[in-house]
Amino acid sequence: MEREVLKIAIQKSGRLSEKSLEIIRNCGIDFQTDSRVLRERATNFPLEFLFVRDDDIPTYVKDGVADIGIVGKNEFDESGFYLDTVKDLGFAKCRLSIAVPNDFDYKGIESLNGKRIATSYPNIMMKILKERGVDASAVVVSGSVEITPQVGIADCICDIVSTGTTLKMNGLKEVETIYYSSAIMIARPGFTNTVSKKNEILFRLLERMDAVEKAKNKKYILFNLPADKLDEAAKIIGGMKSPTVTPLMDKSWLSVQSVVSEDRFWSVFEDLKSIGAEGILVMNIEKMTE
Ligand code: ATP
Ligand code: ZN
Repeated sequence: MEREVLKIAIQKSGRLSEKSLEIIRNCGIDFQTDSRVLRERATNFPLEFLFVRDDDIPTYVKDGVADIGIVGKNEFDESGFYLDTVKDLGFAKCRLSIAVPNDFDYKGIESLNGKRIATSYPNIMMKILKERGVDASAVVVSGSVEITPQVGIADCICDIVSTGTTLKMNGLKEVETIYYSSAIMIARPGFTNTVSKKNEILFRLLERMDAVEKAKNKKYILFNLPADKLDEAAKIIGGMKSPTVTPLMDKSWLSVQSVVSEDRFWSVFEDLKSIGAEGILVMNIEKMTE
């Protein structure tokens, strides 16, 4: 086994956990998952997992306990630490919104002047409110933000919303979205620019992630085509180097293979049919490099 390992901090259990591990597993990296273990070494790649609370991930990366981490942009921005964002992973999308009690006469963001706003994200919230010229105060709570207006410790709240059901259940209405988040990969500042064994490992990991992502938006197609339609088919498929063409026993037909992006797939499929393509096979691509 290689001696140098890249240490990655991942949320132990929560909204980020499963998808974070799935991304790594899709890179062909094998590991055990035992929920009691807080530290785990991948079996076929120099990667070590640290399973921690998401709030602690920016701190671990800052202190060098972990080299990289997967965390919500919200937790990272709230930490205020100066770290590098290596990659936006695009999952765990959510928004930070202001919600007010149903009977609150909300006329626009200026209605928040002088109000007490309960939130678990005081740094992000106060920065944005300040930028927008609002003078409000933050009531910092670590959970159950929605009940704070009912119990009288805040006038309104600023919290993560996905569907809005929890807000409704607590007599609140969403009036303003101030921030958007998704999961990101973070690293110590400059880590990606230094030449080191660990850094090499990170690049191998990123390269694999890229290959998986590229493949996700592509389909592999295989079909039989009347030989005299090849030029037309190449035009329809477009954008690629020439498709792979194999002769068939029947000389008037060819077998053609190519890769088509997902968003163009149906129009390509229909156009190929219209010029006489037959037996069109479509396959998912697992990994792809260019
Ligand atoms: P921990 O026990 O690790 O501290 P937590 O309860 O603070 O967990 P989760 O609720 O698992 O955290 O949320 C983790 C992250 O997922 C949030 O910081 C945010 O980036 C994102 N997130 C939160 N709510 C949603 C949602 N409703 N939909 C999608 N993503 C969300
Ligand atoms: Zn947390």
